[in-house]
Amino acid sequence: MPNTAEQSRERFTNFTPYEMKKGEDYMSAEMLQHFKGLLLNWKQELMEEVDRTMHHMQEDAANYADPSDRATQEEEFSLELRTRDRERKLIKKIDQTVDRIDKDDYGFCDQCGVEIGIRRLEARPTATLCIDCKTLAEIRERQTGI
Ligand SMILES: [Zn+2]
Repeated sequence: MPNTAEQSRERFTNFTPYEMKKGEDYMSAEMLQHFKGLLLNWKQELMEEVDRTMHHMQEDAANYADPSDRATQEEEFSLELRTRDRERKLIKKIDQTVDRIDKDDYGFCDQCGVEIGIRRLEARPTATLCIDCKTLAEIRERQTGI
């Protein structure tokens, strides 16, 4: 069974890129609406995915009687649980982002205040940092991290 949801888990690609009108302000009401719609569709997709995983696990649980099968199954389950945990965190982040859109506080870097940019936001709708600050944060993380 091909898993098309696999790619969509961490990213959402099922949308039409926003075309900025001549003279349109960055993060106009229409643009905010575009991102809100995108985020809500993404959330919907993730929630369906979580649902599918849960059903899948419930069905599988009933199907194994052999203890060695169960061991393999437990590994699969813990993997699925981790995936679900990631999805839940992502959904929470999407909620927070939608909240920021509603408060008209979206699209600008939390660190330096510049415009994050439409294309970057379409690739990462939950981004709160511009590409420069993000890169810097990642370098710092690598230096101080494990
Ligand atoms: Zn920045």
